[in-house]
Amino acid sequence: MLYDNILRAKNKGFIISNLNKRIIFLDRDGVINHDYGYVSQIEKFQFIDGVFDACKYFLDLGYEIIVITNQSGIGRGYFSKNDFQDLTNWMINEFKKNNINILKVYHCPHTPDENCDCRKPKIGMIQQSLNDFNIDLQNSWLIGDKKSDIETAINANILNKILISQDKNNSEFPNIASNLIDTINIIKN
Ligand SMILES: [Mg+2]
Ligand SMILES: [Zn+2]
Repeated sequence: MLYDNILRAKNKGFIISNLNKRIIFLDRDGVINHDYGYVSQIEKFQFIDGVFDACKYFLDLGYEIIVITNQSGIGRGYFSKNDFQDLTNWMINEFKKNNINILKVYHCPHTPDENCDCRKPKIGMIQQSLNDFNIDLQNSWLIGDKKSDIETAINANILNKILISQDKNNSEFPNIASNLIDTINIIKN
């Protein structure tokens, strides 16, 4: 009887831990692709070198990948929601061609003036992901190239965060990598 209970608890624990996804939350512009400002066209979307290799490595380590991206260009009328969706579908497919599954892409279409709950550094997109998936936030990572990305991690209580920056002397943040492939050295430790 006791043994049964222990076994059941063990199995339950095993199942629960299996359901909890460890996520690498990736900002898009400046992390996945070169940020020329309001990137909205497939022809102008350039993957940064090493992104696919880095993501494959994340998957090998047992992480899944979620993209969270501010896209105020929609709210500003620079491009449409459909343009964004077309680009996103294309991007996801490029990852697929490299055997990389992107679990989900969340975007905030609003301008700063709209004062929404999803524009980073607010945590609406993280909260949405927690509603959609069973996520082990403690063992997840957030990677972005702006202070607002790091603030998002802080606001959402994501302890593991990396700033993509060419300024390695930026002492404000402990974890700095020059690009996504460079983050591997931090994440594998
Ligand atoms: Mg960015
Ligand atoms: Zn928003």
